[in-house]
Amino acid sequence: MLHTDGSIQKHNQLLIQKKVSGGTVLKKKLEMLEELQEIEQVIDGMKTVQSGLQGELDDIGLAVDATRQEVAGLEERLTLLESEKSALEATQATELENITRSETNMKEIKTNKEFQAVGREISAARKQLTEIEEQILQKITQIDESAGELTTKKSALGEMAENSAERASEKQAEIDKIQHDIDADVVRREALTSAMPASLIKRFTTLRDQRRGRALAIARDGYCMGCNMQLPPQLYNNLYKQEELLSCPHCQRILILKLQQQ
Ligand SMILES: [Zn+2]
Repeated sequence: MLHTDGSIQKHNQLLIQKKVSGGTVLKKKLEMLEELQEIEQVIDGMKTVQSGLQGELDDIGLAVDATRQEVAGLEERLTLLESEKSALEATQATELENITRSETNMKEIKTNKEFQAVGREISAARKQLTEIEEQILQKITQIDESAGELTTKKSALGEMAENSAERASEKQAEIDKIQHDIDADVVRREALTSAMPASLIKRFTTLRDQRRGRALAIARDGYCMGCNMQLPPQLYNNLYKQEELLSCPHCQRILILKLQQQ
């Protein structure tokens, strides 16, 4: 009997020891998870800032591109106007030749009727010529306007490109600095996760993906602070025992018991 009693006592002692060491392991696990979550939050935050900066950097490039396109558009318009002007000038030259020819022909005309007919042709051609000359003048005005606009736009582009290059390199430097910090935290994360069971990391990562970046939730006053739902009393009591990792039945986050004063 004594032997048996002693054995039972020993067994109970072992159980208690096991429980205590189990609790310590769990505590350690929870601490690691909390640290992991903190690192992930920091990395997430930095990535958000970084992508905002990347957006601003892209916008700088887009603004320059837009102005560059406006310049190209104006150059195209100018080329078109020049070629229209050339075409009009060619027509003008042809009309002038026609008039000169008709005038030369007139000298050889014998009848009055023919003379009048050619005369009408010439005056029609002159009228046409006047219209062409007006159109050429219009083109010249348009060309001057476009050329002026182009000069202004080009100098704006030059200034903009210079400013943008400066601003872009500032943004890039900020992005790089954040990347440097992210890399440092990734190293920290790796050091941490290498000391954690793979299954736990997998559970954590899956939860994080499903639960907007938060795999852990604080349990307090019988509630899960992750989803603000009441926890079943038995589950809440089990949290105090610190025997196993427990999840919120509503949001599945891993629960960490924190009392009000903590
Ligand atoms: Zn929850």
